[in-house]
Amino acid sequence: MRKSTHSALERYMARRGGKPLARAMARPPLSVRRLFRVAALATLLAAACVFAMRPRPVQPIKVTYEVDLSRAARGELVITMVCDGRLPGKLDLVLPPGTFGDSRSGVHARDPKAHALGADGRQLRPLKVIETADGWNLRAGGSRRTGIVYSLDLRAAPGSEQDVRRHISTPVAGGLRAAGFEIFLEPLGVPVEGLTVVVRNPDDIPVLVPWPAVVRNDLQQAREDTDADAAQHITDASLGYGQGFQPAAQAGTPAELGRSAAAAPVPANLFYHPRDIADLNNALLVCGDIRTHTAQAGDCVIQLATDRDWMFTDEAALDLVRRIARTEMGFFGSAPTDQITVLLSANAITGDDRFDVYGVHTGSSVLVMLDADTTWGAVEDQAASVIAHEMFHGWLGEAVRQTDPTMLWFTEGATTWYAARMLTAAGVWRTEHARGVLGARLDRDYTGNPLRGTMSVADAAAEVMAPAEQVRFGYAGGVTACMALDEMLAEKGGHARPLDGILRHLYAQDRGKPLTRQRLEAAVLQATGVDCAPWLDAHVYGKTALPPIKSML
Ligand SMILES: [Zn+2]
Repeated sequence: MRKSTHSALERYMARRGGKPLARAMARPPLSVRRLFRVAALATLLAAACVFAMRPRPVQPIKVTYEVDLSRAARGELVITMVCDGRLPGKLDLVLPPGTFGDSRSGVHARDPKAHALGADGRQLRPLKVIETADGWNLRAGGSRRTGIVYSLDLRAAPGSEQDVRRHISTPVAGGLRAAGFEIFLEPLGVPVEGLTVVVRNPDDIPVLVPWPAVVRNDLQQAREDTDADAAQHITDASLGYGQGFQPAAQAGTPAELGRSAAAAPVPANLFYHPRDIADLNNALLVCGDIRTHTAQAGDCVIQLATDRDWMFTDEAALDLVRRIARTEMGFFGSAPTDQITVLLSANAITGDDRFDVYGVHTGSSVLVMLDADTTWGAVEDQAASVIAHEMFHGWLGEAVRQTDPTMLWFTEGATTWYAARMLTAAGVWRTEHARGVLGARLDRDYTGNPLRGTMSVADAAAEVMAPAEQVRFGYAGGVTACMALDEMLAEKGGHARPLDGILRHLYAQDRGKPLTRQRLEAAVLQATGVDCAPWLDAHVYGKTALPPIKSML
């Protein structure tokens, strides 16, 4: 940190020998006029020095990430990070944290090259980059515009066959899939204001960014003008099917655009603005041989995307996704974003820890990895619950933000319970089936878990990387806790399913805010008039076992 004005003046005085004016006056003999001139000059000099050495507040910088897809078909990405604004002399750049903080994850940034850039983007002079424990240290040397180029090889993933989490960023047919948290370098200790992601696509590979951030784009202008600043003048549009790179009003029909309805969008250059670093990390970029299908539900575009052929039709999968999305939108009253994408991809895991179905959400979009030979029956039985769960996080987890680990019991517990309820409401699961699936899981992972009574549910759920038994206890305990809370509140308030109203209340009142215990308790109080704090203290944050559940569904 720079010092205050006062200490800058002191440092200036010390360096000038303490008394600049006194020394000038000490030179005899001086006419009054000359004395005046020297004094004036010294004052000017002092003022100039004080001005030059005045403390500057640390100005936030703007960061633009240019993602180059020209080598994407070979599984490689080249990213240029452009920092606009004065950088400290030495700037720490932190490599992406990797998959769930695992530094052994397959994706590694390498070959950094840095330059001071001119206003026009020209490379003025090379800057030194030194390797550190968790990234690189850039000797920015007061540069006002700095470019750092690095590359990522998504093919190199030793041990990846063992761990599904290392398959999020990976080569796919004709291109690659990359998670924001594995590819974007971050500056440390410098406030960042204004993030832009520019995707360069010289070979016109079909691209999806299933993250419905606001996209500023225009096909024509983007082709002509590659300067990110120019994007400021471009019309806002949302990244829905066929809309991400042209304002919706000007978008032609797929036939007019010269490609089939199932072809994924082909933006030459794509811009979008993450709200913050968390948003940046949350992005999922997919390019390659992708097909997309869309349906409209109210104002929301529901999109199915896939990069392979399945034993079921794309239309059947889209219909399933649409039914789930409409049910969840109906429950909350609106969609959390104007686009929900579900991306179906192959699960290539062969290790012992393999899952039949694996899902992650980025914003309100969902990546689901399935066995290549998954039947339609298995999609309805198993994949549907993953889709319903991850999509529900678009409301509870994203719109109402999950940031505090001690709230994971609620975010995950409620999401799992409601996913089963949404599937029965949508007619995808019969109530008996849902009851069987959920009941078996809760019996095994909560009621029969040796941790029951020895560890609080909130503590167990807060540790995402804990041993499997604890993770299962935390999650099943979270589901049980949500059901038990609902039953306790129903008994006190006399209304069925009070948690429904509490979730809607959170979505309506606390949208965009992090979910905290305080906010949950306030929502419970407002929706039901009950102070649930003592109950949470005992059963969720304490070790008192939860009462048996009377009615799961
Ligand atoms: Zn979840």
